Amino acid sequence: MIIAVDFDGTIVEHEYPRIGKPIPFAIEVLKKLQEEEGHTLILWTMREGKLLQDAINFCESRGLKFYAHNKNYPDEIIEEGTIRKISADIYIDDRNIGGLFDWGIIYRIIKSGANRIENLDMLENRMQKENKNWFIRMGEALEKAKRGY
Ligand SMILES: [Mg+2]
Repeated sequence: MIIAVDFDGTIVEHEYPRIGKPIPFAIEVLKKLQEEEGHTLILWTMREGKLLQDAINFCESRGLKFYAHNKNYPDEIIEEGTIRKISADIYIDDRNIGGLFDWGIIYRIIKSGANRIENLDMLENRMQKENKNWFIRMGEALEKAKRGY
C-alpha cells in the first residue's frame, strides 16, 4: 500500500519550523512497514525548501528513507505554487479526526488490514490470540500508561 505520512506532530513533536523531539516509535514503525511489510512511504508535509530538507535529513540520519516527498513518485514534476493532495491508500497525520494513534497501534492497524475504526474490536480479539511482538507490547504499555494503570 501507499502510505502518506505527515512530519510535524506525527513523526516528531510539533515545533515547526524547528524539529521537535521524536515521537516514540514513529521511525521504528515506519521502517518496519517499509522493510518488512513492503509498503511505499511518502512524506507528506507542508514543509518545503530547506525546511523540507531538514525533515528528510532528520529521517534519513535515522535510517528512514521515503520513496518520495510531497510527490506521488520521486521525479514527478509539479508546477510551482501547485498544492494538491497526493494519492495514497492511508494517510497518517496528527490532524486526523480523533487524533494520532500511538505508533504501536498504527502498526497493528496497518498490519492487520483493519483500517477502519469499527474493525478495531475485531482486531483486538484476533491479536490477543496471536503472538504479540515488541511493537504491539509497547503500544499496549503506552495505552495502559495513558489510562493510568
Ligand atoms: Mg502535522
